[in-house]
Amino acid sequence: MVVVLVIGWFANSVIPDPEFEAWKIRFSQLAKEQGVSAEVATQALQGFTPDYKVLRLEAHQPEFTKPVWEYLESAVSAKRIAQGQVLLQEKADLLQRIYQQYGVQPEYLLAIWGVESNFGRQTGDYNVIRSLATLAYAGIPERRVFWQAQLFAALRLLEKGDIPLAAMRGSWAGAMGHTQFIPTTFEEFAVDFDGDGKRDLINSTADALASTANYLMRSGWQRDKPWGREVRLPANFDWSSADPDVWLPAQVWGQRGVSNVDNQQVPTELDPAFIFLPAGYRGPAWLAFNNFSVILKYNNAQNYALAVGYLGDRIRGKPALSAAWPLDDKPLSLTQKTELQQLLTVMGYSTEGVDGKIGPNTRSALRRWQMENGFPADGYATVEQLETLQRLTHSRSKLP
Ligand code: CA
Repeated sequence: MVVVLVIGWFANSVIPDPEFEAWKIRFSQLAKEQGVSAEVATQALQGFTPDYKVLRLEAHQPEFTKPVWEYLESAVSAKRIAQGQVLLQEKADLLQRIYQQYGVQPEYLLAIWGVESNFGRQTGDYNVIRSLATLAYAGIPERRVFWQAQLFAALRLLEKGDIPLAAMRGSWAGAMGHTQFIPTTFEEFAVDFDGDGKRDLINSTADALASTANYLMRSGWQRDKPWGREVRLPANFDWSSADPDVWLPAQVWGQRGVSNVDNQQVPTELDPAFIFLPAGYRGPAWLAFNNFSVILKYNNAQNYALAVGYLGDRIRGKPALSAAWPLDDKPLSLTQKTELQQLLTVMGYSTEGVDGKIGPNTRSALRRWQMENGFPADGYATVEQLETLQRLTHSRSKLP
């Protein structure tokens, strides 16, 4: 008894931050209008200080990012493929029932599970309410409204009783369970698939996988359709047409000389696709279909969607990639990306801003520059091209 009391006293003896405590009271009042009772809000928001580690993680902009092939090596490791294939057998019944209802092929559900949490082994151990309250209170100002919405949703989940407060643990950004749903997604898309009346994405694999399938279905997943397929492009291919905004029927790509790597045939289907070159013209190429865009709605990063699609393919027993990665092309660092944008803009190819992120505007500026400087216009930035730009601007600045 004494021990319990002492531990309880220590747990509650964090030095309160008066401003944060006042913010919690105001937030609890706002939560009432959001359908959260004062009891639930008060109980959930008491007994913690801001988590400064979470704020550091939100502010962190990595100087170096892994090349896509290194990311795939860990996301689609031989071990993970093998584990996925074991689960495909072990959970065949469940996966089949989910497939019947939502139309998502089992291998791609398993792939999301594998990439998101290593099949439930790494679901995150942050206190979700504390993380979200910290971010809503002191996160990057432009993002606080987003974090507040997540915190309201998390409190409503507690109010409804889907998961108990103590179980609400997840990533630093509040993503929970086997397939890492953020609270608003949880609220809108989670389903109870094991029939116990609760939507529990943390302890129930059935609930988590069915909820993921539900999310994909409602985001436009096309039953039985592929996400993408590795293809070979002809030497005279118009590289500027390899763009996430250029969608054409697969058949039309076939007419332009694109062929499947597995059977050497040209694509014949009418489904729209774009040519996806994650490492530029020297690397592997894919036809990416509608379901690729649906995976992006789950997590808006092309390398993520590629990892999910490719892992799913490998779990299905499809062969490894046919084309080689350009291992000598290292991705640009944050500083180099920023410099690339500055130099392109100085040379008259405006990137519409300089933020160190290669988005559609930078790709488009880079393509225009590539076309006029003898590079394939793939919109993929390399160190070699940055160095060319540096030389050109340097020599230009020496002109009288
Ligand atoms: Ca359930």
